[in-house]
Amino acid sequence: MTTEKNPTPKIAWIPEVIYAGNRCQSNRALVCDAAGAIVKIVPVSELRDEKRINLPRRALLPGMINAHSHAFQRVLRGRTEYRASAKRDSFWTWREMMYAAATRLSPEDIYDASCMAFLEMALNGITAVGEFHYLHHGPDGSAYEDPNLLAREVIRAAGDIGLRIGLLRVAYARSGFQKPANPRQARFIEADAEVYLKNVEALTQSVSSASVNQDSSFRRTFDTAWVGVAPHSVRAVPLNYLKQVIRYVNEHDLKIHMHVAEQPAEVSACVEEYGRTPVALLQTEGLLSERFTAVHAIHVTPKAAASFAQTGAVVCACPTTERNLGDGVVPADEYLKHGVALCLGTDSHAQIDLLEDARELEYHLRLQKLERAVLDDQPQATSLESHGLAARLFECATINGARSIGAPTGVLDAGKPADFFTVDIDDPSIAGAANDDLLAAIVFSSSRAAVREVVVAGKPIVSEGRHLNQEGVVERFNIVQKKLWG
Ligand SMILES: [Zn+2]
Repeated sequence: MTTEKNPTPKIAWIPEVIYAGNRCQSNRALVCDAAGAIVKIVPVSELRDEKRINLPRRALLPGMINAHSHAFQRVLRGRTEYRASAKRDSFWTWREMMYAAATRLSPEDIYDASCMAFLEMALNGITAVGEFHYLHHGPDGSAYEDPNLLAREVIRAAGDIGLRIGLLRVAYARSGFQKPANPRQARFIEADAEVYLKNVEALTQSVSSASVNQDSSFRRTFDTAWVGVAPHSVRAVPLNYLKQVIRYVNEHDLKIHMHVAEQPAEVSACVEEYGRTPVALLQTEGLLSERFTAVHAIHVTPKAAASFAQTGAVVCACPTTERNLGDGVVPADEYLKHGVALCLGTDSHAQIDLLEDARELEYHLRLQKLERAVLDDQPQATSLESHGLAARLFECATINGARSIGAPTGVLDAGKPADFFTVDIDDPSIAGAANDDLLAAIVFSSSRAAVREVVVAGKPIVSEGRHLNQEGVVERFNIVQKKLWG
């Protein structure tokens, strides 16, 4: 018989307020085990011999999930905010500027730019990211010896910052329907579906063999990196290629993300090629499922919401990018009316503040409809206690994002990883809130400066509003920017 000697004590995080189970509660502790899983949330009076970490004047909330990111695009911030010609500027002129940067980044630059983007996410309270990764080759289009070199650099960056990452490896076959090849897309192209899937397979194997333990329930809780697939769009991936990818996804039970109907030109090209809109094409070909996340889904017909609802597909809105690029407004009211789950992404990183995306989902509709509280589904509820609209938007930033990218997190519950962030309830942006309006104050008004601690798998990655490696990451990013832009 063996006896356990000096078992590692459990840790009790004791903030002023915990937001869990749709309620803000005081005098509660979040108890975690040594492996970084949540054991229970209990009244402080029920604590026994746990090691206590007091967090006075803090509200503790589940870590947020950024479901759509192109980390390297962080290098573009502030560099595209002008009209490049006498004609109107648009998504397409922005895209040429983005390509100009994408073609010049070395693998190390991609690591450094990704660290910068992920650092800012961590400082915002984001604990997991879905990285829609499409840089695969060298700048001239020739493959690296390891075709997953750049994907691995991005995964390494997420690991060094401390975020969980779903690496959604992009399939990109062509410039568009009957369009000549664009040399600036040479880094993305894998024209053959079999080559693409072979590379996905290799990446999946190397990521899972890096896991300490192969037991599936252990991995679900503790994996920090995993692989999904991302056919870029119906423009860039023809139907036969797409069908092969979907078959693979179904066989291997992977998450699949795709840009859908971000721009009217993409929709009209799809109608020209297939006689159907992108959503109709995906629906009639049986390609939508609960594994599928349609990113943007802006320029859609009224039937789209029913198609997503019937199949369980998720929609990812990226309002801060969509407003920056002049994409349009996600019809979130239609989606929610049909029961479609919505999640959020910071996409081009014009700004990294997922709560800004959450509130813009609602605010864009207010401007469009000249109404308030458009997305509130409980108009009769008089009490703020249920947190109605704010809770709904916060779900988009947490639970729904986790479902979309396959993260094991998004909610504070026993057995889940201890991934959470805290805000200072005396921060000027939210000061004065009580437990019944605190979540609404955080969702609608908090500044990123209010975020103080960020913890992933029970380990702090941000303390007192600063990341452990903040100076080094910023310094290296400054060097990249100087090299890129002079
Ligand atoms: Zn995107």
